[in-house]
Amino acid sequence: MCIRDRLYGDGVFEGIRVYQGRIFKCDSHMERLYRCAEQIKLKIPITRDEMVIVQRQCIEANNITEGYIRLVVTRGYGTLGLDPRKCPVPGIICIADQISLYKPEFYDTGMKVVVAQRPKTPVACLDPRIKTLNYLNNILAKVEAIEAGCDEAIMLSTDGWVTECTGDNIFVIKDGQIFTPPPVNGVSGLLEGVTRKFVMETLCKECGVTCTEKMMRLDEVLAADEVFLTGTAAEIIGVNQIADRKISRGEGPITKKLRMKFRQIVTSGHVPED
Ligand code: PMP
Repeated sequence: MCIRDRLYGDGVFEGIRVYQGRIFKCDSHMERLYRCAEQIKLKIPITRDEMVIVQRQCIEANNITEGYIRLVVTRGYGTLGLDPRKCPVPGIICIADQISLYKPEFYDTGMKVVVAQRPKTPVACLDPRIKTLNYLNNILAKVEAIEAGCDEAIMLSTDGWVTECTGDNIFVIKDGQIFTPPPVNGVSGLLEGVTRKFVMETLCKECGVTCTEKMMRLDEVLAADEVFLTGTAAEIIGVNQIADRKISRGEGPITKKLRMKFRQIVTSGHVPED
C-alpha cells in the first residue's frame, strides 16, 4: 500500500489564512477546493460544511488566532501504478501552522523578481486553474528565481503572455489603472487566486481604483508604474525590480493603499469568511 499523492502529485490542496480566529474567505477556498477535486475526478468524501468543521477543530486544537491552514485532499491509499480506481478512498489532511513567506522588510521596499525561462504548463496539458499537488512546473521556475538571488519568478505562457508567478498572482498599475492577466491567457492559464479576487472585487472598489483583466506581454509589465503580487501567504507585496529593470522606488503608492486596506480588514473585527 502507498499514499498516491506521494508518488504522482495526485490530489488537490488549499492554503488558507486565519485572522482573528476567523477563516479568511473560507467559502471561496471551499468552492475552489471542491471544484478542483471534481476537475481531477476526485470525490471528496465529506461535505463542505464538514470540511469547515475539520478546519475549526484544527484551529482550536492548535490554539491559533493568527495562522495558516493547509488542506490537502489526496487520491488516498492504494497500490503502485496510475489507476485511480486502485485508491478508492481519498485522504484528507489538515495542517495548522504559521507562515511568513517573504522578508517583512520587502513589504516596504518591494521585492525583486525574475522572469522564468521555463514557460507555464499549457491548459491543454494540465490546467493551472486547478490547484493540484503537482507543482513541479512552478517549483522549477522558483528554483530559477532562487538561482538568480530572489524569491519569485514571473511565468510566461509558451506563446509569450504573462500569466502569474510561481505561487502568486500578478497585477500591473499604469496611469492609475490596475490590470491583471485573465484566467485563460493564451495557451496557458493561471490560478484564480482567492486574494486576487479579493483585490479585484473588494479592495480596488474600496480604494476607488479600477481593475481590469487584460492579456499582457512582458514589455507592458516592464513599463508599469507599479507591479504587485498577491497570494494567501504573501498577502499583497510590491515588486520594485524585474530582472535588471527597476519598476518603482520602494512600494508604489497604489500598492501601499491596497495593502493598508487589506491589513485594516484582516485586523478588524469583520474578517470576511464568505
Ligand atoms: N498562483 C499560484 C500558482 C499559487 O500557488 C497561489 C497560491 N499560493 C496563487 C497564485 C495565489 O492564490 P491565493 O490568493 O488563492 O493564495
